[in-house]
Amino acid sequence: MKRFVYADNAATTPLSEKALEAMLPFLKQEYGNASQPYSFSRLARKTLKEARATIAQCIGASPEEIFFTSGGTESDNWVIQGAMHQGWPIISSSIEHHAVLKPCEFAKKRGCKVELLPVSHEGVVSVGTLAHYLTEDKGLVSVMFANNEIGSIQPVEVLARLAHDSGWLFHTDAVQAVGHVPIDVQKLGMDMLSASAHKFNGPKGMGFLYIRNGIEWPSLILGGSQESEHRAGTENVAGIVGMAVALQENIDMLDANTKHICRLEESLLDKLSHSGVRFYRNGAKHHITGNISLSFPGHSGEAILHRLDLKGISISTGSACDSHDTQMSHVLKAIRLEEELAKSTIRISFGRYNIEEDVSILANALIQIVSKRNL
Ligand code: PLP
Repeated sequence: MKRFVYADNAATTPLSEKALEAMLPFLKQEYGNASQPYSFSRLARKTLKEARATIAQCIGASPEEIFFTSGGTESDNWVIQGAMHQGWPIISSSIEHHAVLKPCEFAKKRGCKVELLPVSHEGVVSVGTLAHYLTEDKGLVSVMFANNEIGSIQPVEVLARLAHDSGWLFHTDAVQAVGHVPIDVQKLGMDMLSASAHKFNGPKGMGFLYIRNGIEWPSLILGGSQESEHRAGTENVAGIVGMAVALQENIDMLDANTKHICRLEESLLDKLSHSGVRFYRNGAKHHITGNISLSFPGHSGEAILHRLDLKGISISTGSACDSHDTQMSHVLKAIRLEEELAKSTIRISFGRYNIEEDVSILANALIQIVSKRNL
């Protein structure tokens, strides 16, 4: 049987077996509402508490600093709209995910001062530029940990220090990084951090926001008193336990996963180079392992995607979250990639379940497609 090749792990990852097993009881017999005091909900309550502690420990936080959300988009909105509600100025970057950029636009329309930092050709925010914008005596800086389209890792530790020196808070959208690179929020000096379970082999529709102790941040979702009155809504116990198990598993396997995915990345690039096809790689040297943005001059990224799809291979053009957007990717625009090259760009993203055979199948198919006459 032909092997289906999934190489779009930056869009989403398969659910881990361990996470699924941990979730099942809470989708079946253990359906008690975790906020109810009776004994039927005891296991749900205990599991929720343990999951919070596990997640906290995976990123160097304390349990009371972790707030469960419905994913990266909600976490990002909570942060940006929180700044807006307080009338704070916001500084973000031009390569953020739309989960940050759209609320920033919204805040601007509501009268907030919003600035977007430019990036280098490699897609890295320059530290010096931030210093120039920190004019008020308080506000929010929000810069992503790693970019979803080209993988570039941002100097968040240095940016946070600069923000703090001017009395500003620092948030990072770490959706592409949590579970894939070591993160210690205290050492890095993060005030807030967004994460999403489905990017680290957890369930979809589940995420968390880390808010450093001592920061009183306005709620986004109002209602019941869950999450110590910071985020209303009946707790998704199955989702929460699945997220915690998946994160712990990825953290335990971090070195092995990184080495494995790095080998796959090198193997793909070697195969493409040896084939003689013309391509450019976008992004920085310091990037999320396995996130590979490639431009094939003279070809259409869209057409490459569809031809690979016909061969049972899933990859992405630009960003998966932008698949309905026919405009040029704002990230490729921000790194000042020529329009023709941007249109010829695809994103391949490997994950821990990919194997060398996937790389061979993908490389052979890709070489065959781009070796033909220009599309
Ligand atoms: N931020 C980044 C950097 C992302 O890559 C994504 C999803 O692709 C999100 C936020 C949104 O996360 P979610 O899908 O959990 O809403």
